[in-house]
Amino acid sequence: MELVFFVFWVSSIVLAGGIASSKNRFAFGWMLLAVALGPMAMLAVGLMPSWIPKRQAGEAECPLCFGLVDSRATVCRHCRRGLAREATGPALVTRLQR
Ligand SMILES: [Zn+2]
Repeated sequence: MELVFFVFWVSSIVLAGGIASSKNRFAFGWMLLAVALGPMAMLAVGLMPSWIPKRQAGEAECPLCFGLVDSRATVCRHCRRGLAREATGPALVTRLQR
């Protein structure tokens, strides 16, 4: 019986990490919480919405990888591809920089 409980607890830790990761949340933190709370942490992260980083002033979204970059950047810091400046934000440079 104790073994069943242990397997159930460990499964909820792994699942909490997997669910957190799929929702763009901090998987290790949720796994640590699941060590203490077990299936409660798994349920909590399962009910939470996906985490979407908020765009701040001076930031723009890369049209290629959708990572947030400084609106003045000419190269995306995530995918390292060139960005062209437009009034509305970054756009793809037709001739990609290599
Ligand atoms: Zn990018």
